[in-house]
Amino acid sequence: MKTVKVSIVTPDGPVYESDVEMVSTKAQSGDLGVLPGHIPMVAPLEIGAVRLKKEGHTDYVAVTGGFLEVRPEQVTILAQAAEPADQIDIERAKEAKHRAEDKLKQDNMDFKRAELALRRAINRIEVYQHDR
Ligand code: ATP
Repeated sequence: MKTVKVSIVTPDGPVYESDVEMVSTKAQSGDLGVLPGHIPMVAPLEIGAVRLKKEGHTDYVAVTGGFLEVRPEQVTILAQAAEPADQIDIERAKEAKHRAEDKLKQDNMDFKRAELALRRAINRIEVYQHDR
């Protein structure tokens, strides 16, 4: 099976590196799957799960925004934050979700900020649950 090298990198350093058979991401233009040999491209990403298929299983990484860059031998995801499923603190994500929901119920000017916090928290919870 052909593979492509994938690196997921944040300002704090690399969080995931592996040779995989397929990478699935949520780009701003829609769901985007990348197989080995994909043409070079750059795409902005949404808050979402990155799925990495290899050797009969799938790794999940929660990614907060950033970019996907495809080069002939390498796929790089540069993200503001990224957590592999097994490194997600589920209690922290649930607390963040509740905080964001409370803020959204209030009449405030920070609607967009609270909405983004809610999306980050839900993404982390979903990625964590995929891995169980
Ligand atoms: P919180 O309110 O819990 O800090 P947040 O969405 O505001 O959540 P971010 O600003 O996206 O957090 O991330 C800050 C740092 O904390 C990043 O390094 C991110 O990887 C990490 N992080 C955030 N939430 C979690 C979590 N539930 N489990 C593990 N790491 C997390």
